[in-house]
Amino acid sequence: MQTNLADFIKNTPEGDEAEAILRACVHCGFCTATCPTYQLLGDELDGPRGRIYLIKQVLEGAPVTAKTQLHLDRCLTCRNCESTCPSGVQYGRLADIGRKVVEARVERPLGQRFKRLLLKEGLTRKWIFTPALRAGQLLRPLLSKPLQDKIPQRQGGGHWPGGTQARRMLVLDGCAQPAMAPNINGAAARVLDALGVQLIVAPKAGCCGALRHHLNDQGGALDDMRRNIDAWWPYVAGLAGGDGAVEAIVMTASGCGATVKEYGHLLAHDGAYAAKAARVSALTLDLSEVMPQFEAELARRIGGRIGQRVAYHPPCTLQHGQQIRGKVEGVLRAVGVDVKLCADSHLCCGSAGTYSILQPELALQLRDRKLANLAATGAETIVSANVGCQAHLQSGTATPVRHWIELIDRALAAVGA
Ligand code: SF4
Ligand code: SF4
Repeated sequence: MQTNLADFIKNTPEGDEAEAILRACVHCGFCTATCPTYQLLGDELDGPRGRIYLIKQVLEGAPVTAKTQLHLDRCLTCRNCESTCPSGVQYGRLADIGRKVVEARVERPLGQRFKRLLLKEGLTRKWIFTPALRAGQLLRPLLSKPLQDKIPQRQGGGHWPGGTQARRMLVLDGCAQPAMAPNINGAAARVLDALGVQLIVAPKAGCCGALRHHLNDQGGALDDMRRNIDAWWPYVAGLAGGDGAVEAIVMTASGCGATVKEYGHLLAHDGAYAAKAARVSALTLDLSEVMPQFEAELARRIGGRIGQRVAYHPPCTLQHGQQIRGKVEGVLRAVGVDVKLCADSHLCCGSAGTYSILQPELALQLRDRKLANLAATGAETIVSANVGCQAHLQSGTATPVRHWIELIDRALAAVGA
């Protein structure tokens, strides 16, 4: 697509990146049909091609309006369009750049600003989010059904294995996950410990930056990233004791993984952090990339012991953001699980970070479509690979929704391994 960027962004790193992305788009519209918001709203401007055109106009200096902002806000950033695009258009990065410019030009109404501030500052800080969630869980019986649905039941994390192992990997604890679903990392730590890998949490690491990034606080997000790099670096460089450097940084939430894998790109122009960020991104693996090496061992120990019919919902941040497909199903099938993908499994469930709070009507429509498709598989349990998808899906169904590693953990515990 021919572009003529305005002076305010021309010849800047973001301008150059946006220009290259815009030039790659041939305006064919293949992406439109697979866009969840286009499917729901039927408006070209609520599909990727229309949004790309809007961003192009913004970057070329056209007036920016609240309507432009609304069409960009309605985008889930699911990046399904990237998987569909035959020209390799990196829509997600273009959306980030476009949204940043729009955010600076269009003042949001007070209510929106307050809500976004609460999300940005509250969700990303454990010391705020954990007590707030605990209070909500205590008051849950007194709340209306829609509010109850938004508050996950309290769960324990189980024991964290003590001792050391020959192999060591870091794991990101994150911001909301430890309060919402502590058993996910607990399960990952127990399973990997049983297989000879020690998972380590760096105490000073926190939110990966995705929440602030997607709420257009891109400076705050970069600070989150630098803090995590500082927290991880002693382990990455082998300065934190133990037997040298860790071999990987494991992500149990695919939303965090998609972001940490981009640290290198997002901090490429930061002289103090560029090299470290690139190293951290290179070391980062989703849990589903770590586990396939253990398939044979797991099959030997627990093969055939997970009896439920299971439906797997692949998060967008895994299948589109990280382009990882088939690995979770592969591990589950290796241990004899009858795992099914539902119809339209490439489509977003509507969770999308804070989207389900900021765009509840669209998010609920997507959730209910997804749950109907998952129910049609006849599954007794739904599994996913991202805490946000799990909580969002669980809010609309009585069918248990878990992280897939929790199935493996239970089966190992059942055989006493
Ligand atoms: S993003 Fe890709 S699929 Fe969509 S219009 Fe552009 S070139 Fe076509
Ligand atoms: S990221 Fe998802 S919602 Fe946004 S334009 Fe692409 S397909 Fe549509």
